[in-house]
Amino acid sequence: MHRSDKFRDECGVVAIYAHPEAEKLAYLSLHALQHRGQESAGIATSDGMTLRAHKAMGLVADIFVEDVLAKLRGRLAVGHTRYSTAGDSALLNAQPIMVQSNKGMMALAHNGNLVNAMEIRSRLESQGSIFQTNSDTEVIVHLIALSKEHTLPEAMADALRRVEGAFSLVVTSTDRIFAARDPRGFRPLAMGRIPAQNGEKQDTIVFASETCAFDLIGATFERDVKPGEMVVVGPEGVTSRFYATAQPQSSCIFEHVYFSRPDSLVFGRAVQDSREELGRQLAREAPAVGDIVVPVPDSGVTAAMGYAAESGIPFRFGLIRNHYVGRTFIEPRQSVRDFGVKLKLNPVRSLLEGKRVVLIDDSIVRGTTSRKILRMVRSAGAREVHMRISCPPTISPCFYGVDTPSRRELIAANKSLEEIREFIGADSLAYLSLEGLKKACADGETTSYCSACYTGVYPTNWVDVEEIQPATASKR
Ligand code: AMP
Repeated sequence: MHRSDKFRDECGVVAIYAHPEAEKLAYLSLHALQHRGQESAGIATSDGMTLRAHKAMGLVADIFVEDVLAKLRGRLAVGHTRYSTAGDSALLNAQPIMVQSNKGMMALAHNGNLVNAMEIRSRLESQGSIFQTNSDTEVIVHLIALSKEHTLPEAMADALRRVEGAFSLVVTSTDRIFAARDPRGFRPLAMGRIPAQNGEKQDTIVFASETCAFDLIGATFERDVKPGEMVVVGPEGVTSRFYATAQPQSSCIFEHVYFSRPDSLVFGRAVQDSREELGRQLAREAPAVGDIVVPVPDSGVTAAMGYAAESGIPFRFGLIRNHYVGRTFIEPRQSVRDFGVKLKLNPVRSLLEGKRVVLIDDSIVRGTTSRKILRMVRSAGAREVHMRISCPPTISPCFYGVDTPSRRELIAANKSLEEIREFIGADSLAYLSLEGLKKACADGETTSYCSACYTGVYPTNWVDVEEIQPATASKR
């Protein structure tokens, strides 16, 4: 029986080929991808002779200070930023993973989750392999090292054919960058270019989970790495091969709903376009009688703008977000109700008082955040609160790299719409339909999506959903 790896991470990855300050470009790119993971970050670089890496817990800007970056001087770089689930946040599991193998030195950074990692790991351990981390990415490293193929590209292709699930992978050796996506294209990976400057012979080629990273480093988006494709960038230029036949594409629709930034192109489509259309579609499907449309910032903002534009109800920032919330805060001895949410959000009483509020968020997972926010909006004087959610009810966990809790904890898997409305304390509640979601994200045009979290229908049929319960997320 196949088993899903119980560790699932939300991550961002970047790679830089041929730039005199590759470490700095990787650092800036990771900074732009910080929303994809705030728990740890790492960069590995090559100066052509050897690799160096630095990884630590914390935010990119705090980890990579001047003298840390000075020690990472290189022309090639890969970087990773990560959020992981409870019990699995150790520095040990931070990436990139750097190894010296019989195929040479390499450093890997991976976004996604392998669904057969546990199975491969048990087999390799029974044959004597020793694993240093809990991360499924290390399985790929072992498979590359054990491959009978002699060259790194061949060994990598061989390894990638043996793993199943979601991976957008970037690897640096001393002289080449490799970028690959799984055959279903679950997670994004874009390729961009910076024209050669100051007498450099080659253009700089860059890869990133989202194109917002390219904007910061002056790179132009060229194309996505395709499902089942491995792109190799070296002194010979850019070469491409398909290491596996493509499977029916199942790119993660949640990237468009919540995860990616609206200023990114993801799966070749502007996230802004999808997210605004999600709001417009929601307004058509689930109209509400209200005085103002208020987003839950930041995740609900773009959809709320779409909802307001379509419904004609004015858009107002009725909740203000404090962006400077760190990891831990000292709570007063006399505990404050809804302390966690209050640290992050505060209502604008002068806007909300006496109003019928249409409150928009991207999703309800456990329902606890929505409940607290609704209490907050009412305490600021709102007369009615009509909650509208810009995706369908989340009923199933993700096995491909999004941190959703087990079915037990997903409110929509256990309660009816009316029960959820009552739990969160709304006057009315409506979700977007699955058809509406797909239409808003242009499903079937340039991309076909995985929507397993809304349907329970998984594209990889070997996942034993009942047996595997994802670890509980510790933070939101
Ligand atoms: P809750 O219903 O209390 O579990 O939390 C819902 C909130 O979490 C919504 O505002 C979402 O924007 C946010 N959210 C949904 N999915 C995720 C995720 N995978 N990682 C982090 N935050 C999320």
